[in-house]
Amino acid sequence: MAVDLGGTNFRVCSIRLNGDSTFNLTFSKVAIPKELMVAETAQELFAFLAEEVKNFLKKHHGNQFEAYTRRRLTMSAPGGFRDEHIFRMGFTFSFPVQQIGINKGTLIRWTKGFDIPDAVGRDVCALLQSEMNKLHLPVKVAALVNDTVGTLVARSYTSPGKSGAVLGAIFGTGTNGAYVEKLSKIKKPLSGDYDNSTGEMVMNTEWGSFDNQLNVLPSTSWDKALDEASVNPGIQMYEKRVSGMFLGEILRLVLIDMFKNPKISFFKDEDSNSNDWRSTTNVGENSSLFKQWGLDTSIMSVAAADNTPELGTLRQELESALHVYAPAQDDAQAFKAIAGAIGRRAARLAAVAIGAIVLQTGKLADPGLKDEPVDIGVDGSLVEHYPYFRDMIHEALAAVDGIGEEGAKRIRIGIAKDGSGVGAALIALVAAGME
Ligand code: ADP
Repeated sequence: MAVDLGGTNFRVCSIRLNGDSTFNLTFSKVAIPKELMVAETAQELFAFLAEEVKNFLKKHHGNQFEAYTRRRLTMSAPGGFRDEHIFRMGFTFSFPVQQIGINKGTLIRWTKGFDIPDAVGRDVCALLQSEMNKLHLPVKVAALVNDTVGTLVARSYTSPGKSGAVLGAIFGTGTNGAYVEKLSKIKKPLSGDYDNSTGEMVMNTEWGSFDNQLNVLPSTSWDKALDEASVNPGIQMYEKRVSGMFLGEILRLVLIDMFKNPKISFFKDEDSNSNDWRSTTNVGENSSLFKQWGLDTSIMSVAAADNTPELGTLRQELESALHVYAPAQDDAQAFKAIAGAIGRRAARLAAVAIGAIVLQTGKLADPGLKDEPVDIGVDGSLVEHYPYFRDMIHEALAAVDGIGEEGAKRIRIGIAKDGSGVGAALIALVAAGME
């Protein structure tokens, strides 16, 4: 089993691994009630999660659940249940944790709108386990997983090669990547419970926070404006140029500057001679275009996908989603060009992180792997839906010193669909084998 708590939704799934790189997945998804994101106690949130796990088991694994419950009732000693009746669960928890064991990690801080101070510093696996125990569920939290690590492992399962996937990366709301590193190369002092027999460890890079102190990334005035108006100025600087949460906002800030500039005729209301720049546009005054975060990155995918001269689909979308009235063809072309530049820059910056990890692993230069692809699993709406995102990454990889055209051809980037769920379940399975 796997559960995923990462933001808006809580996902529960069970996965049958067929052992031949395929799997069957059953899943349910529920929105997390807003009041539980800021509950008084951690117990309230985790009790809700446990209840969802129970509902899922009853619905999709009723027979096993009933058999377990019947058996449990006839047992005299608690805890003596048959091992094969117990589901091993991977817990994907995409908040900062200090991981101190395969199924142990303390919450460092909440992000993404969650705020339950009582949970900070506590082991999130134990919190979930204790609530599931209260409901007598036949489930053991066997592994705590970051979504990037789940993606890496899932891709290694579905796309087996000589060395498995080298990198699991997310390009969704945020961006991050995890890869396998040699222990000898890890400089950070390691603590906690870990197995060093393989000489390797999965590293969660948290690359979204690259450039927090450096200021080496090229910046436009719109990058600066976005950062200054964000809740965490100076933080997650790389992510703010690359991931889905931010690209739409960069585009929106560019558009606003164009509206304000009297020399640029862009989505203009030709009949207006108002002094208020908003009224000189043909954009409805309630359009989300005028609000921070009001432009969803998905419209950039619509723009990139519409390659007709008249841009009918994009113009329709501008009208329905953003209340731009009767957008002119030229204006839609301008919108598409700017959105395309922002998307292309994001893909090229994504290639920097990917290329750096590929070079760090040394796989391209390894003579033993000469004819093998260097496999990368990716997940997230941006990389999945933005047209040509992966092509643009490849184009940029070919320009990286040490990779080049030939190297770029060997780098295979594939979508790891349901990656974090499948990966978390796989990790739970491996962890169960080590108990
Ligand atoms: P999460 O990363 O939270 O698990 P997703 O992978 O679905 O979720 O990513 C959500 C982000 O992707 C949002 O910022 C959204 O604006 C963006 N997004 C959603 N659909 C698209 C699309 N079709 N094209 C580009 N970006 C998209």
